[in-house]
Amino acid sequence: MSALTALTLKGALEGLASKQFSSEEITRAHIAAIEAANPQLNAYVLTTPEKALEGARAADARIAAGEARPLEGAPIGIKDLFCTEGVRSTACSKILGNFIPPYESTVTANLWREGAVMLGKLNLDEFAMGSSNESSAFGPVVNPWKSRGSNQPLTPGGSSGGSAAAVAADLCLAATATDTGGSIRQPAAFTGTVGIKPTYGRCSRYGIVAFASSLDQAGPIAKTVEDAAILLRAMAGHDQKDSTSLNIEVPDFASFVGKSVKGLRIGVPKEYRLDSMPAEIAALWDQGIAWLKAAGCEIREVSLPHTKYALPAYYIIAPAEASSNLARYDGMRFGLRQEGGTLTETYENSRAAGFGAEVQRRILIGTYVLSAGYYDAYYLKALKVRRRIADDFEAAFTEVDALLTPTAPSAAFGLGERVADPIAMYLNDVFTVTTNLAGLPGLSLPAGLDSTGLPLGLQLIGRPLDEGTLFSLAGAMEDAAGFRSKPEKWW
Ligand code: GLN
Repeated sequence: MSALTALTLKGALEGLASKQFSSEEITRAHIAAIEAANPQLNAYVLTTPEKALEGARAADARIAAGEARPLEGAPIGIKDLFCTEGVRSTACSKILGNFIPPYESTVTANLWREGAVMLGKLNLDEFAMGSSNESSAFGPVVNPWKSRGSNQPLTPGGSSGGSAAAVAADLCLAATATDTGGSIRQPAAFTGTVGIKPTYGRCSRYGIVAFASSLDQAGPIAKTVEDAAILLRAMAGHDQKDSTSLNIEVPDFASFVGKSVKGLRIGVPKEYRLDSMPAEIAALWDQGIAWLKAAGCEIREVSLPHTKYALPAYYIIAPAEASSNLARYDGMRFGLRQEGGTLTETYENSRAAGFGAEVQRRILIGTYVLSAGYYDAYYLKALKVRRRIADDFEAAFTEVDALLTPTAPSAAFGLGERVADPIAMYLNDVFTVTTNLAGLPGLSLPAGLDSTGLPLGLQLIGRPLDEGTLFSLAGAMEDAAGFRSKPEKWW
């Protein structure tokens, strides 16, 4: 059965369509793989095998009747930030307790409408705040990858650590994820998978637990560039329930994979060459540049002068929006409630018991930067910086068609290594937060292994709504990189 879990989404859809195996078979293979792996990896916080098998049988009936839809019978995993009707959805926070949503997020509804099968809900940092999956109320996810000759458990990255680990360990064909400051791309880079955060507004945010509403975007984590394109097309689309979702056509993203990239102009932002960047990351970046050159692209150095302000601006804007969004968790309507002598005490007790340390830190920072007297000095200033960062990109895109950067400043690090130092944790997001601030699409693809055998990712950044060019470039780089490595199975 393991051969079935090793398939790509594309390969599985072809095998299902040509009746080489049934959806029930491939779904059962994944359920068995999850049962064997999850005690070690902790990628799923809830499995829904009965629901999955019911969906698989319905898919098989449709295939038999010649009525297969685009994702018919494909078992996938869902980040536990997406509300799923009748299935516990927690954002991996204690404050949501056993919240069972009476509604379905639009992105997941889109996937079910196309025939996908849900295996379960995937672990993440609490409310998607983090870069290592260690702030989850369900405990960290363990990266399926290990450094050569070492047994140290590594982070799969965050916040979509469960999604990335599950895809890398073949515990689903692909997964949904979300990205507010890098949460799709950094975990993809740490696990040798492909992830794309589309343009802000491509996917509806309806039914996704809100972190920072002006930055949050859903996207896929997948085994290949083509799989990511297939899943993104199904996830995306206009939704009247989200006023920021764009009312525009969703292209067939997969048709861009394999297209020639000859003549495209690729920008290499000089400000992203950090002094502290490990030599291996710099070398990988150069390798990526060489691959694109060989594919016929023209490489140009570009300047994004406000880059150094991106991280501070992000860590003001995101907590500000979070402090506002999380005000709704007061012990009255959802999940956990800790009684106190007065109403205010009940609020305080519930929030103190329900939110973990990192989420509390964000609420405190966010409340501070929005308070009278500090609003202008911090929040308003950060919004101005955000505008400058977007303008930098706009100027660069008059000269180039896409940008190439590393995804993260390091490979996967050890669990526990950075929990005591929030700033060290935040520094992980240095290459990813800029695209969220500017609303641009960013894709991470695996480009090679470091000297200890851990995967490293490169990031492509595109013009608004130009995911197509990113898929063409990523396809060309995937071919050149020939990255086929999987983690050695130890679980
Ligand atoms: N690591 C970033 C943060 O902690 C980004 C998280 C995300 O994209 N959801 O805010």
